[in-house]
Amino acid sequence: MENFLLGHEPTVRLGIFLGLFAIIAAWELAAPRRTLRQSKALRWTHNLALTTLNSVLTRVALPVAAVGVAAFAAERGMGLFNLFHIPHPLTILLSVLALDMAIYLQHLMFHAVPLFWRLHRVHHADLDFDVTTGARFHPIEIGLSMLIKFAVILALGPPAVAVLVFEVLLNASSMFNHGNVRIPAAIDRVLRWTVVTPDMHRVHHSIDPRETNSNFGFSVPWWDRLFGTYRAEPQAGHEAMTIGIAQFRAPRELWLDRMLLQPFRPGDGTYSIGRRHEAMR
Ligand SMILES: [Zn+2]
Ligand SMILES: [Zn+2]
Repeated sequence: MENFLLGHEPTVRLGIFLGLFAIIAAWELAAPRRTLRQSKALRWTHNLALTTLNSVLTRVALPVAAVGVAAFAAERGMGLFNLFHIPHPLTILLSVLALDMAIYLQHLMFHAVPLFWRLHRVHHADLDFDVTTGARFHPIEIGLSMLIKFAVILALGPPAVAVLVFEVLLNASSMFNHGNVRIPAAIDRVLRWTVVTPDMHRVHHSIDPRETNSNFGFSVPWWDRLFGTYRAEPQAGHEAMTIGIAQFRAPRELWLDRMLLQPFRPGDGTYSIGRRHEAMR
């Protein structure tokens, strides 16, 4: 089973991505959480064009997959987990958790460091919040986070299958927690103990910097609870809250060319660093 999954890694990941995307997209039509403010055709065309561009670019520029880096580390006995004899299932569990915490910390850093925020604000500049927002990242941010992930894998030495599980989980949670889907409050409350729900992550896309700088987790909500960055609801409520950042509010900014240029445009690079402390208080 493990070998089959690893042998068919790109197909497994693409299949899960397309299947889940279709399910969440249909769910958004059947039970939307908010009325979209912008043209869906425009946003979907440009957000999905960016997603496609990203997968082509990473395949050309960084053809090494994270599972390959894990296999490389295992062969050479590199990384923390390769130093100890821990039962395989436990190593997988610990690896997935450690990688997820690393992504949480990386996300925090992308908000706190002005230069990184310039890249990451492309994700936040979407004026609506739905499944396509979950795949809307600047290509340089994608490349940078891949390099950070490779470094974490070399340091940790997780089993290749744990990396695959982690990547599939991260991808699936990102689509789910950006979904413009209505989930009854009682169910959302229960789900939130183990997964980041759309209502939880939507707070992170609020125009209010105190809310933007909370709920950094993608898969599990535990890191936000542990590190004090959890915020239950947006102050204005989910229906009325404003999505996006104060900069880049014209619909023209939703176009692919503008998204690619946004990191290089003048702007308040220190937008988030001072405000974070405010959010932590
Ligand atoms: Zn963010
Ligand atoms: Zn997001």
